[in-house]
Amino acid sequence: MLAFTLLLMTACLSRTRALVTIHNAQAVLDERDETISVLLLEFEESAAEWLWETDATRRVIRPSARFARACGRAPADIDGMPILQLLAGPSWDSGTFAAGLRALAEKLRNRDSFVNLRLPIRFTEQERWWQLAAAPRYDDRGIFCGFRGVGADVTDQRASADKINRMARFDTLTGLPNRRLITETLSDAMIAAEACGGRCAFMMLDLDRFKAVNDTLGHPVGDRLLCQVAERLGHMMSANRSCGRLGGDEFALVVRDASDTGAVEELAGRIITALSRPYDVDHYTLHIGASIGLAFGPRDGRTSEMLIRSADLALYRAKDAGRGVFRVYEPALYVQAEERRVLEIALRGALDRGEMSLAYQPIIDTQGGMLRGFEALLRWESPEFGTVPPSRFIPLAEDARIIAQIGAWVLRTACVEAASWPEGLRIAVNVSPVQLQNDGFVTTVATVLADSGLSADRLELEVTEGVFLREDRGATTTLARILDLGVRLSLDDFGIGHSSLGYLSRTRFSSIKIDGSFVRAAARGGREALAIIRAVVALAQSLDIATIAEGVETQDERQLVAALGCTHAQGDLFGRALPVTETRTLAERDWTDSAAA
Ligand code: C2E
Ligand code: MG
Ligand code: MG
Repeated sequence: MLAFTLLLMTACLSRTRALVTIHNAQAVLDERDETISVLLLEFEESAAEWLWETDATRRVIRPSARFARACGRAPADIDGMPILQLLAGPSWDSGTFAAGLRALAEKLRNRDSFVNLRLPIRFTEQERWWQLAAAPRYDDRGIFCGFRGVGADVTDQRASADKINRMARFDTLTGLPNRRLITETLSDAMIAAEACGGRCAFMMLDLDRFKAVNDTLGHPVGDRLLCQVAERLGHMMSANRSCGRLGGDEFALVVRDASDTGAVEELAGRIITALSRPYDVDHYTLHIGASIGLAFGPRDGRTSEMLIRSADLALYRAKDAGRGVFRVYEPALYVQAEERRVLEIALRGALDRGEMSLAYQPIIDTQGGMLRGFEALLRWESPEFGTVPPSRFIPLAEDARIIAQIGAWVLRTACVEAASWPEGLRIAVNVSPVQLQNDGFVTTVATVLADSGLSADRLELEVTEGVFLREDRGATTTLARILDLGVRLSLDDFGIGHSSLGYLSRTRFSSIKIDGSFVRAAARGGREALAIIRAVVALAQSLDIATIAEGVETQDERQLVAALGCTHAQGDLFGRALPVTETRTLAERDWTDSAAA
């Protein structure tokens, strides 16, 4: 009995314990359920999303208030309605369904779960976009019993995505397609041209003198000017042509069907004329121009990148030709560009490899035949290309932005050398306009003078008119700061280029160098050359500026320039550009008794 009672008690106890555990577990579960429903309720009330549910026949069941409200109906109205019919709205009858709806139908049919499924909804006049996610439901026995998921209205989100997409493809200032979109347009045009054996065209357009407007009148005026340019371009577009802004003052144009090349060239001419007409911006009348590079695809480039590069090379050529014109790409441009590229690579390392040196050409006083000093001339002896003339590699160094480094080396080497010459001799060093644009240039000159110990008035920097043709005004300021150091300035190559004596008033020059071609023309009896030299000499005398005749090769030329009143001369007659050792011998010579040799 006792044993039985004990057994019974133990059994009861363990049963009770089990019951308590079960009860507790149930309580936890109930509580969790409650929490979930509260959470769901909250979700339903506040979130921008709603729950939806269907039965196995794809009909809406237990529609929530929010879901019904999103549909613009009462819950009872949509209860039991086929979900596809509900979402299709008015298009249900027409039978033409949006891609999103068709995708949804497919998912429901295949019982696949899905996320981020977007579809347009048209319950009212205004189209909205919904995003749905759902998973199939199965009961305990594994039988499919419908879908349950969430939905959200993403119309606003989509609009901002559209806007971002638009911003990524259109220029914000002018509203024109940007580089990305115009490149895509070009690719499409190339594919179309390829498909029908036709040709398309690409124009690269650069505004002339735009930078001057921007620099002098400020960016807001520059921006408004760009908008007017865009507007004029826009007026010239059609279904066959699109234009865009590549950035800065660069625009581009795609002509889809360019089988009539003559018409495309004529269009380029008309665009230049249209863009060169004066602009009215903020009460200013502005005059700018345009240069165009034109390339035809697939002839001038099989891919859009190649075609753009070809148009760019042609644009380069148009600018070289004095701007305000268009140039059509030709294969020779590519060959030249390739040669330049290879030469540029060699040039980059030339200084470090010790391939560069300076030669010094004497400058003589025409009256007494005395040595006044030397002009330092840069020489490049390339193991690969041989002797490359400065006329070839200096422009390259300017374009490749290595002129500052090379120029600084020239200045330093020349000044150190000149410091070893007798006191009275000067050194003239050529300075490229690009160097003057560099903020650090004045500091370089000051440092070199200090390091070499050369007195500032023995250094003469030769600049060309190109300095003033640059579109910024910084050069004049830089020149003034150089003058403040006590360094002299010389106007080089007068007679080629613009030959405007007006430049003499821009800054204080110590001398003006008349180009050799002018001297030769005068010696051959060229009346214009003679008249100009006379005028230059007269003006220089009145301003107390020296005149140096360049490229004097014969005694006749020497006598002529002396008779015309040029104070100094330079040229093969007096000596070619000499290596440094010969220069030293010449510099050390006693010049006091060397009368007109
Ligand atoms: P430039 O400054 O006008 O230099 C005078 C040029 O005329 C030199 O050519 C010189 O060799 C040449 N020349 C001198 N006498 C005669 C002559 O009697 N007959 C003829 N036909 N030519 C003569 P080079 O050395 O070929 O230099 C050409 C140009 O390259 C220079 O013209 C100058 O503008 C530029 N250049 C030379 N060295 C430098 C440099 O270190 N820096 C910069 N930025 N430019 C330089
Ligand atoms: Mg010179
Ligand atoms: Mg010269």
